[in-house]
Amino acid sequence: MEKRTLKRALAALCAVCVLPFSGCAEKKAETTFLAMDTVMSVSVYGENAREAADACRAEAERLEKLLSVTDGNSEIYAVNNAGGAPVSVSAETAELLEKALELCQRTAGALDVTVYPLVRAWGFTTGEYRVPDESELAALLENVDHSRVSVENGEVTLPAGMELDLGAVAKGYTADRLAEILSGMGVESALLNLGHNIHLIGSKPDGSDWVIAVQSPDGGGYAGTLAVSACAVVTSGGYERFFTDENGETHHHIIDPATGQSAASGIISATIVGKSGLVCDALSTAVYVMGAEKAVSLWRESSDFEMLLIGADGGITVTAGIAEAFTPTDTDADITVVTR
Ligand code: FAD
Ligand code: MG
Repeated sequence: MEKRTLKRALAALCAVCVLPFSGCAEKKAETTFLAMDTVMSVSVYGENAREAADACRAEAERLEKLLSVTDGNSEIYAVNNAGGAPVSVSAETAELLEKALELCQRTAGALDVTVYPLVRAWGFTTGEYRVPDESELAALLENVDHSRVSVENGEVTLPAGMELDLGAVAKGYTADRLAEILSGMGVESALLNLGHNIHLIGSKPDGSDWVIAVQSPDGGGYAGTLAVSACAVVTSGGYERFFTDENGETHHHIIDPATGQSAASGIISATIVGKSGLVCDALSTAVYVMGAEKAVSLWRESSDFEMLLIGADGGITVTAGIAEAFTPTDTDADITVVTR
């Protein structure tokens, strides 16, 4: 991993961090490693802690090989380079892609797994940033449309010119898989930190809630904490993977598939809390794109997630299900609690 990427990955690890706690007599094992271009850290408590933590690392590395858009041996790479021909994929990739496509539909295309040509054009895949002009963006947008991806009988067909990128959902899916493995090994307390994807298995070993810090998007400390257990907590923000162009405008890696530009919905940090890491990862990206008003409508018609949004004006919107769990750092913060 190059220095730039490592620095960013370390920043990601700190972005949503878990406040330290003490007083635990349980056996504990930790492992920290680089995968999917981020620092992943796994803390497991209990009898099988060491074995379980090692199994998590192996699984994350396996999934990176399967799902990476840049690894020439991955199934996603094969689909992207088939020139429009159907490609046989594993049942796992097919199922993940089907679920991701459902989430693209559910979010009316705010999440779109075919956004890769745009992500690349802006240079977010290489770090060689540039601002594509309107005509280039218009041409690339022709090839962004999740509804044209077909998954049938274990085969994925992608029209020539289109490319898949599961970057917005793969870490959440990975967290779900690690949780399954840990549960199969009898682990009742663990904390997975996969970049901005936190996944909590059970509660802390002493039975109390984990305390998760939500980073302040302006870089100064954290906006507040969430005291939660047995759930995923996933944050998307435009404040880490970004560049400033020659006109002083900043552009970040979450792209609005409607415009081809960095999303500018008025939200600068979207944290989603729920049981499914995949759903939380997908929705954190989608909500960041769609903005607060649509996100609140989506929440009102859903029952599988809660959210905490930070607006460009500093205002915090939190849904009723986690309002009590949230403690803002600034007691004078402008907080709106949304109810159904
Ligand atoms: P999220 O908000 O969860 O996702 C944002 C990412 O999703 C963007 O970076 C972009 O890739 C994509 N995206 C942007 N807008 C949308 C949208 N509207 N809908 C859907 N997707 C969108 N990065 C590297 O630089 N080099 C690597 O070799 C590399 N390998 C990776 C391998 C795997 C298996 C995975 C999962 C990721 C890898 N990444 C790599 C990182 C990846 O490119 C993303 O930057 C990262 O997943 C972003 O995660 P996030 O939590 O910050 O943001
Ligand atoms: Mg995401």
